[in-house]
Amino acid sequence: MRVLLVEDDRSLGETLQSWLQLDGYAVDWVMRGDLADTALRTHSYDCVVLDRGLPRLSGDSLLATLRAHGNAVPVLIVTARDTLADRIAGLDLGADDYLVKPFDLEELSARMRAAIRRGTQQAQAAGESHVDGVRLDPAAKRVTLHGEPITLTAREFAILHALMRNSGRILTRSQIEEALYGWGDEVESNAIEVHIHHLRKKLGAERIVTRRNLGYTLRGDR
Ligand code: CA
Repeated sequence: MRVLLVEDDRSLGETLQSWLQLDGYAVDWVMRGDLADTALRTHSYDCVVLDRGLPRLSGDSLLATLRAHGNAVPVLIVTARDTLADRIAGLDLGADDYLVKPFDLEELSARMRAAIRRGTQQAQAAGESHVDGVRLDPAAKRVTLHGEPITLTAREFAILHALMRNSGRILTRSQIEEALYGWGDEVESNAIEVHIHHLRKKLGAERIVTRRNLGYTLRGDR
């Protein structure tokens, strides 16, 4: 489990980092909002512990941007502001939970476990699939390879989605054509080969296996 800790108070940051590491998490700690933004664009995390008052980019702005991009990572806001209006503002921006400083470290752990559990359940309900380092989120139309975002065309996305939904099974050409049906025009005879070629370039050549005269299958099951 990998956690992004965003806290500009050095002493609190050190305390939280040590605590979370003892709790078994791999912790990336950054002290500025813009650095957190970069980390979230380039890595995938199981949870974010986010301070609100941060240099360069506030926790609120960071959270709003994150959700606008369809990133559903569980976020726990940690803040000194303890008025009711502030709490509601944070939750409205898409935070999963809220802790007011000073807080008990055991409580932080418990709230994180709960947020991560809910996040996993939501991802499963949303039909997110994960095969051997490739993660596909159909709602956000987002694909990552080992946490790095991958840009796919709509058709490449549709083919990958079909292969991932049928992970462990062979998908015939006509099943893939069906997955593409509805993208507007006729599927040309060599179109599937071309899309598969591009997917292999983006995801690794060995990932999609050709089963001669049968179809295609994804290598690396779960
Ligand atoms: Ca702060």
